[in-house]
Amino acid sequence: MSRVYNFSAGPAVLPEEVLKEAAAEMLDYNGTGMSVMEMSHRSKAFEEIINSAEQDLRDLMNIPDNYKVLFMQGGASQQFAMIPMNFMKNRVADYIITGQWAKKAAKEAEKYGKVNRIASSEDQTFSYIPDCSDLPVSEDADYVYICENNTIYGTKFKELPNTKGKTLIADVSSCFLSEPVDVEKYGMIYGGVQKNIGPAGVVIAIIREDLITEDVLEGTPTMLTYKTHADAKSLYNTPPAYGIYICGKVFKWLKAQGGLAAIKEKNEKKAKVLYDFLDQSKMFKGTVVKKDRSLMNVPFVTGDADLDAKFVKEAKEAGLENLKGHRSVGGMRASIYNAMPYEGVVALVEFMKKFEEENA
Ligand SMILES: *Cc1c(COP(=O)(O)O)cnc(C)c1O
Repeated sequence: MSRVYNFSAGPAVLPEEVLKEAAAEMLDYNGTGMSVMEMSHRSKAFEEIINSAEQDLRDLMNIPDNYKVLFMQGGASQQFAMIPMNFMKNRVADYIITGQWAKKAAKEAEKYGKVNRIASSEDQTFSYIPDCSDLPVSEDADYVYICENNTIYGTKFKELPNTKGKTLIADVSSCFLSEPVDVEKYGMIYGGVQKNIGPAGVVIAIIREDLITEDVLEGTPTMLTYKTHADAKSLYNTPPAYGIYICGKVFKWLKAQGGLAAIKEKNEKKAKVLYDFLDQSKMFKGTVVKKDRSLMNVPFVTGDADLDAKFVKEAKEAGLENLKGHRSVGGMRASIYNAMPYEGVVALVEFMKKFEEENA
Protein backbone atom coordinates (compact mmCIF):
# COMPACT_ATOMS: atom_id res chain seq x y z
CA MET A 1 0.00 0.00 0.00
CA SER A 2 1.28 3.43 -0.74
CA ARG A 3 -0.43 6.71 -0.02
CA VAL A 4 0.20 9.85 -2.04
CA TYR A 5 0.25 13.42 -0.81
CA ASN A 6 -3.24 14.46 -1.91
CA PHE A 7 -3.66 18.21 -2.45
CA SER A 8 -7.27 17.92 -3.64
CA ALA A 9 -9.60 20.81 -2.82
CA GLY A 10 -12.35 18.36 -1.96
CA PRO A 11 -13.18 15.63 -1.32
CA ALA A 12 -9.83 15.84 0.34
CA VAL A 13 -7.22 14.18 2.52
CA LEU A 14 -8.34 12.72 5.85
CA PRO A 15 -6.10 11.82 8.80
CA GLU A 16 -4.53 8.43 8.27
CA GLU A 17 -5.18 7.49 11.91
CA VAL A 18 -8.90 8.04 11.35
CA LEU A 19 -8.97 5.90 8.21
CA LYS A 20 -7.09 3.11 9.97
CA GLU A 21 -9.47 3.15 12.92
CA ALA A 22 -12.46 3.07 10.61
CA ALA A 23 -10.92 0.16 8.72
CA ALA A 24 -10.35 -1.76 11.93
CA GLU A 25 -13.98 -1.20 12.94
CA MET A 26 -15.43 -1.96 9.53
CA LEU A 27 -16.76 -5.46 10.24
CA ASP A 28 -17.50 -5.11 13.93
CA TYR A 29 -18.10 -1.70 15.45
CA ASN A 30 -17.43 -1.76 19.16
CA GLY A 31 -18.72 -5.30 19.74
CA THR A 32 -21.98 -4.82 17.86
CA GLY A 33 -21.01 -7.42 15.26
CA MET A 34 -21.86 -5.02 12.45
CA SER A 35 -20.49 -2.03 10.58
CA VAL A 36 -21.78 1.49 11.35
CA MET A 37 -23.13 1.39 7.77
CA GLU A 38 -25.37 -1.50 8.68
CA MET A 39 -26.89 -0.37 11.95
CA SER A 40 -30.15 1.42 12.72
CA HIS A 41 -29.82 5.15 13.15
CA ARG A 42 -32.15 4.67 16.15
CA SER A 43 -29.81 2.15 17.81
CA LYS A 44 -28.03 2.82 21.07
CA ALA A 45 -24.66 2.50 19.34
CA PHE A 46 -25.49 5.15 16.76
CA GLU A 47 -27.10 7.44 19.31
CA GLU A 48 -23.79 7.35 21.15
CA ILE A 49 -21.89 8.13 17.93
CA ILE A 50 -23.95 11.19 16.98
CA ASN A 51 -24.18 12.52 20.52
CA SER A 52 -20.45 12.36 21.10
CA ALA A 53 -19.78 13.84 17.64
CA GLU A 54 -21.94 16.83 18.57
CA GLN A 55 -20.36 17.18 22.00
CA ASP A 56 -16.82 16.98 20.62
CA LEU A 57 -17.64 19.62 18.01
CA ARG A 58 -19.13 21.82 20.74
CA ASP A 59 -15.95 21.41 22.79
CA LEU A 60 -13.66 22.15 19.84
CA MET A 61 -15.48 25.29 18.71
CA ASN A 62 -16.64 26.35 22.13
CA ILE A 63 -20.22 26.51 20.83
CA PRO A 64 -22.55 28.34 23.24
CA ASP A 65 -25.64 26.49 24.53
CA ASN A 66 -28.00 28.75 22.60
CA TYR A 67 -26.70 27.42 19.28
CA LYS A 68 -27.98 24.21 17.69
CA VAL A 69 -25.68 21.83 15.83
CA LEU A 70 -27.37 20.15 12.87
CA PHE A 71 -26.03 17.29 10.76
CA MET A 72 -27.82 17.31 7.40
CA GLN A 73 -27.49 16.15 3.80
CA GLY A 74 -27.44 17.86 0.43
CA GLY A 75 -23.98 19.40 0.68
CA ALA A 76 -23.20 23.05 1.09
CA SER A 77 -25.12 23.80 -2.11
CA GLN A 78 -28.43 22.75 -0.54
CA GLN A 79 -27.89 25.47 2.05
CA PHE A 80 -27.84 28.10 -0.70
CA ALA A 81 -31.64 27.57 -0.88
CA MET A 82 -32.35 26.62 2.73
CA ILE A 83 -30.86 29.85 4.04
CA PRO A 84 -33.26 32.18 2.20
CA MET A 85 -36.21 29.80 2.67
CA ASN A 86 -35.71 29.85 6.42
CA PHE A 87 -34.40 33.34 7.08
CA MET A 88 -35.76 35.73 4.43
CA LYS A 89 -38.60 37.14 6.51
CA ASN A 90 -38.42 40.53 4.76
CA ARG A 91 -37.36 38.90 1.51
CA VAL A 92 -34.17 40.97 1.46
CA ALA A 93 -30.60 39.83 1.99
CA ASP A 94 -27.11 41.23 1.47
CA TYR A 95 -24.39 39.12 -0.13
CA ILE A 96 -20.66 39.79 -0.29
CA ILE A 97 -19.33 38.28 -3.49
CA THR A 98 -15.82 36.89 -3.10
CA GLY A 99 -15.95 33.94 -5.46
CA GLN A 100 -18.00 31.33 -7.27
CA TRP A 101 -19.57 29.86 -4.14
CA ALA A 102 -20.86 33.20 -2.86
CA LYS A 103 -22.05 33.99 -6.36
CA LYS A 104 -23.99 30.76 -6.57
CA ALA A 105 -25.49 31.31 -3.12
CA ALA A 106 -26.62 34.82 -4.10
CA LYS A 107 -28.13 33.59 -7.35
CA GLU A 108 -30.10 30.91 -5.54
CA ALA A 109 -31.34 33.39 -2.92
CA GLU A 110 -32.66 35.55 -5.74
CA LYS A 111 -35.36 32.95 -6.30
CA TYR A 112 -36.84 33.93 -2.96
CA GLY A 113 -36.31 37.65 -2.56
CA LYS A 114 -34.24 40.71 -3.25
CA VAL A 115 -30.50 40.16 -3.12
CA ASN A 116 -28.19 43.12 -2.70
CA ARG A 117 -24.59 42.44 -3.66
CA ILE A 118 -23.04 44.96 -1.28
CA ALA A 119 -19.40 44.21 -2.13
CA SER A 120 -17.48 42.16 -4.67
CA SER A 121 -13.93 41.35 -5.68
CA GLU A 122 -14.87 40.05 -9.10
CA ASP A 123 -13.06 42.99 -10.78
CA GLN A 124 -9.71 41.32 -9.94
CA THR A 125 -10.69 37.67 -10.46
CA PHE A 126 -11.54 37.40 -6.74
CA SER A 127 -7.89 37.68 -5.76
CA TYR A 128 -8.63 39.78 -2.67
CA ILE A 129 -11.24 40.37 0.04
CA PRO A 130 -13.02 43.72 -0.24
CA ASP A 131 -12.88 46.21 2.62
CA CYS A 132 -15.99 45.32 4.62
CA SER A 133 -15.65 47.80 7.46
CA ASP A 134 -18.35 50.20 6.27
CA LEU A 135 -20.60 48.60 3.66
CA PRO A 136 -24.02 49.86 2.58
CA VAL A 137 -25.84 47.17 4.60
CA SER A 138 -29.55 47.25 3.71
CA GLU A 139 -31.79 48.51 6.46
CA ASP A 140 -34.30 45.69 5.96
CA ALA A 141 -31.77 42.92 5.25
CA ASP A 142 -32.63 39.64 6.94
CA TYR A 143 -28.96 38.70 7.00
CA VAL A 144 -25.53 39.39 5.54
CA TYR A 145 -23.93 36.43 3.77
CA ILE A 146 -20.25 35.61 3.23
CA CYS A 147 -18.15 32.72 2.01
CA GLU A 148 -15.41 32.95 4.61
CA ASN A 149 -12.71 30.97 2.83
CA ASN A 150 -12.78 30.94 -0.95
CA THR A 151 -11.73 27.46 -1.95
CA ILE A 152 -11.20 28.25 -5.62
CA TYR A 153 -9.42 31.59 -5.29
CA GLY A 154 -7.50 31.03 -2.04
CA THR A 155 -8.68 34.08 -0.13
CA LYS A 156 -9.93 34.23 3.44
CA PHE A 157 -11.72 36.89 5.48
CA LYS A 158 -9.17 37.74 8.19
CA GLU A 159 -11.70 40.06 9.73
CA LEU A 160 -15.44 39.56 9.62
CA PRO A 161 -17.52 42.23 7.88
CA ASN A 162 -19.19 44.94 9.88
CA THR A 163 -22.82 43.88 9.40
CA LYS A 164 -24.16 46.89 11.32
CA GLY A 165 -26.13 44.66 13.63
CA LYS A 166 -27.51 42.31 10.97
CA THR A 167 -27.21 38.54 11.35
CA LEU A 168 -24.05 37.15 9.76
CA ILE A 169 -24.23 33.85 7.88
CA ALA A 170 -21.01 32.20 6.76
CA ASP A 171 -20.13 29.31 4.49
CA VAL A 172 -16.98 27.90 6.09
CA SER A 173 -16.78 24.68 4.05
CA SER A 174 -13.08 24.99 3.30
CA CYS A 175 -11.89 26.49 6.60
CA PHE A 176 -14.08 24.52 9.01
CA LEU A 177 -12.09 23.71 12.18
CA SER A 178 -8.87 25.13 10.74
CA GLU A 179 -8.59 27.72 13.52
CA PRO A 180 -10.55 28.94 16.56
CA VAL A 181 -13.72 30.95 15.85
CA ASP A 182 -15.96 33.15 17.92
CA VAL A 183 -19.30 31.47 17.20
CA GLU A 184 -21.27 34.29 18.82
CA LYS A 185 -20.33 36.63 16.00
CA TYR A 186 -22.46 34.57 13.63
CA GLY A 187 -26.13 33.75 13.30
CA MET A 188 -25.19 30.67 11.35
CA ILE A 189 -21.96 28.90 10.39
CA TYR A 190 -22.17 26.01 7.99
CA GLY A 191 -20.12 23.87 5.69
CA GLY A 192 -19.98 20.73 3.66
CA VAL A 193 -17.57 18.42 5.48
CA GLN A 194 -15.72 16.98 2.49
CA LYS A 195 -13.12 19.74 2.50
CA ASN A 196 -11.70 19.61 5.99
CA ILE A 197 -13.68 17.18 8.14
CA GLY A 198 -15.06 14.03 6.58
CA PRO A 199 -16.69 12.23 3.67
CA ALA A 200 -18.98 14.03 1.21
CA GLY A 201 -22.65 13.75 2.04
CA VAL A 202 -22.72 15.56 5.38
CA VAL A 203 -23.25 19.24 5.93
CA ILE A 204 -22.97 20.72 9.41
CA ALA A 205 -24.85 23.87 10.40
CA ILE A 206 -24.42 25.72 13.68
CA ILE A 207 -27.38 28.05 14.10
CA ARG A 208 -28.43 30.45 16.86
CA GLU A 209 -31.58 29.07 18.45
CA ASP A 210 -33.78 32.14 18.07
CA LEU A 211 -33.30 32.06 14.28
CA ILE A 212 -34.78 28.58 14.04
CA THR A 213 -38.56 29.01 13.78
CA GLU A 214 -41.63 27.68 12.02
CA ASP A 215 -41.96 31.04 10.31
CA VAL A 216 -40.37 30.06 6.99
CA LEU A 217 -41.29 30.99 3.43
CA GLU A 218 -44.54 29.46 2.26
CA GLY A 219 -44.04 26.16 0.50
CA THR A 220 -40.73 25.33 2.21
CA PRO A 221 -40.48 21.52 2.34
CA THR A 222 -40.35 19.85 5.74
CA MET A 223 -36.88 18.49 5.00
CA LEU A 224 -35.60 21.95 4.14
CA THR A 225 -36.84 23.55 7.36
CA TYR A 226 -34.13 23.88 10.02
CA LYS A 227 -36.67 23.43 12.79
CA THR A 228 -37.42 19.90 11.55
CA HIS A 229 -33.80 18.88 12.07
CA ALA A 230 -33.33 20.88 15.26
CA ASP A 231 -36.43 19.38 16.91
CA ALA A 232 -35.42 15.85 15.89
CA LYS A 233 -31.76 16.30 16.90
CA SER A 234 -30.68 15.58 13.31
CA LEU A 235 -32.65 12.30 13.32
CA TYR A 236 -35.87 13.35 11.57
CA ASN A 237 -35.09 10.84 8.86
CA THR A 238 -32.12 8.57 8.26
CA PRO A 239 -29.07 10.83 8.53
CA PRO A 240 -25.81 10.25 6.61
CA ALA A 241 -24.83 7.93 9.43
CA TYR A 242 -21.47 6.62 8.27
CA GLY A 243 -20.32 10.13 7.34
CA ILE A 244 -21.26 11.44 10.78
CA TYR A 245 -19.30 8.59 12.35
CA ILE A 246 -16.16 9.58 10.41
CA CYS A 247 -16.67 13.26 11.29
CA GLY A 248 -16.85 12.21 14.93
CA LYS A 249 -13.51 10.44 14.61
CA VAL A 250 -11.96 13.53 13.02
CA PHE A 251 -13.25 15.65 15.94
CA LYS A 252 -11.52 13.27 18.37
CA TRP A 253 -8.37 13.43 16.24
CA LEU A 254 -8.47 17.25 16.38
CA LYS A 255 -8.87 17.15 20.16
CA ALA A 256 -5.86 14.85 20.37
CA GLN A 257 -3.89 17.33 18.23
CA GLY A 258 -4.53 19.93 20.94
CA GLY A 259 -7.69 21.55 19.61
CA LEU A 260 -8.17 24.45 17.22
CA ALA A 261 -5.51 26.78 18.60
CA ALA A 262 -2.91 24.06 18.13
CA ILE A 263 -4.18 23.13 14.67
CA LYS A 264 -4.07 26.78 13.63
CA GLU A 265 -0.42 26.94 14.62
CA LYS A 266 0.31 23.85 12.54
CA ASN A 267 -1.65 25.24 9.59
CA GLU A 268 0.27 28.52 9.77
CA LYS A 269 3.56 26.68 9.84
CA LYS A 270 2.59 24.59 6.81
CA ALA A 271 1.26 27.53 4.80
CA LYS A 272 4.37 29.59 5.58
CA VAL A 273 6.65 27.01 3.98
CA LEU A 274 4.72 27.26 0.74
CA TYR A 275 4.08 31.02 0.72
CA ASP A 276 7.72 31.81 1.64
CA PHE A 277 8.85 29.73 -1.31
CA LEU A 278 6.35 31.39 -3.67
CA ASP A 279 7.48 34.85 -2.55
CA GLN A 280 11.09 34.25 -3.59
CA SER A 281 10.53 32.01 -6.61
CA LYS A 282 11.31 33.36 -10.07
CA MET A 283 9.03 30.83 -11.74
CA PHE A 284 6.02 30.37 -9.44
CA LYS A 285 3.77 33.16 -8.25
CA GLY A 286 0.92 33.18 -5.74
CA THR A 287 -2.25 34.71 -7.19
CA VAL A 288 -3.70 36.27 -4.03
CA VAL A 289 -3.11 39.62 -2.32
CA LYS A 290 -0.81 38.77 0.62
CA LYS A 291 -3.00 39.99 3.46
CA ASP A 292 -5.97 37.91 2.29
CA ARG A 293 -4.16 34.61 1.76
CA SER A 294 -5.93 31.45 2.87
CA LEU A 295 -4.18 28.92 5.11
CA MET A 296 -6.08 26.14 3.37
CA ASN A 297 -6.08 26.72 -0.40
CA VAL A 298 -2.99 28.08 -2.14
CA PRO A 299 -3.33 28.87 -5.85
CA PHE A 300 -0.20 29.65 -7.85
CA VAL A 301 0.86 29.98 -11.50
CA THR A 302 3.97 30.03 -13.64
CA GLY A 303 2.38 32.34 -16.18
CA ASP A 304 2.81 29.73 -18.91
CA ALA A 305 -0.05 27.24 -19.39
CA ASP A 306 2.21 24.59 -20.95
CA LEU A 307 4.66 24.80 -18.10
CA ASP A 308 1.76 24.58 -15.61
CA ALA A 309 0.55 21.39 -17.29
CA LYS A 310 4.06 19.92 -17.26
CA PHE A 311 4.36 20.73 -13.57
CA VAL A 312 1.05 19.07 -12.68
CA LYS A 313 1.96 15.97 -14.66
CA GLU A 314 5.46 15.58 -13.20
CA ALA A 315 4.22 16.33 -9.69
CA LYS A 316 1.72 13.50 -10.00
CA GLU A 317 4.50 11.16 -11.09
CA ALA A 318 6.35 12.19 -7.93
CA GLY A 319 3.39 11.29 -5.69
CA LEU A 320 2.00 14.83 -5.34
CA GLU A 321 -1.57 14.60 -6.57
CA ASN A 322 -4.45 16.87 -7.50
CA LEU A 323 -2.45 20.06 -7.92
CA LYS A 324 -4.27 21.28 -11.02
CA GLY A 325 -5.89 24.64 -10.38
CA HIS A 326 -9.58 25.36 -10.81
CA ARG A 327 -10.46 26.08 -14.43
CA SER A 328 -11.44 29.67 -13.60
CA VAL A 329 -7.98 30.54 -12.20
CA GLY A 330 -5.79 28.13 -14.16
CA GLY A 331 -2.34 27.12 -12.97
CA MET A 332 -2.07 25.13 -9.78
CA ARG A 333 -3.75 24.96 -6.40
CA ALA A 334 -2.43 23.18 -3.34
CA SER A 335 -5.10 22.52 -0.75
CA ILE A 336 -3.34 21.98 2.54
CA TYR A 337 -6.15 21.13 4.92
CA ASN A 338 -5.79 20.03 8.56
CA ALA A 339 -4.97 16.45 7.59
CA MET A 340 -2.16 17.37 5.17
CA PRO A 341 1.04 16.61 7.07
CA TYR A 342 3.85 19.18 7.27
CA GLU A 343 6.04 16.70 5.41
CA GLY A 344 3.62 16.83 2.47
CA VAL A 345 4.06 20.58 2.08
CA VAL A 346 7.83 20.27 2.42
CA ALA A 347 7.81 17.56 -0.27
CA LEU A 348 5.81 19.87 -2.55
CA VAL A 349 8.20 22.78 -2.05
CA GLU A 350 11.23 20.55 -2.64
CA PHE A 351 9.64 19.36 -5.85
CA MET A 352 8.88 22.95 -6.94
CA LYS A 353 12.52 23.95 -6.32
CA LYS A 354 13.76 21.07 -8.40
CA PHE A 355 11.26 21.81 -11.17
CA GLU A 356 12.28 25.45 -11.22
CA GLU A 357 15.98 24.54 -11.56
CA GLU A 358 15.32 22.02 -14.31
CA ASN A 359 13.06 24.32 -16.31
CA ALA A 360 14.76 27.68 -15.80
C1 LIG B 1 -17.06 22.87 -2.07
C2 LIG B 1 -17.74 24.08 -1.60
C3 LIG B 1 -19.14 24.24 -1.73
C4 LIG B 1 -20.03 23.21 -2.40
O1 LIG B 1 -20.13 22.09 -1.63
P1 LIG B 1 -21.10 20.88 -2.04
O2 LIG B 1 -21.09 20.07 -0.78
O3 LIG B 1 -20.50 20.19 -3.21
O4 LIG B 1 -22.43 21.44 -2.33
C5 LIG B 1 -19.69 25.39 -1.23
N1 LIG B 1 -18.95 26.33 -0.64
C6 LIG B 1 -17.62 26.21 -0.50
C7 LIG B 1 -16.84 27.30 0.16
C8 LIG B 1 -16.97 25.09 -0.98
O5 LIG B 1 -15.65 24.97 -0.86
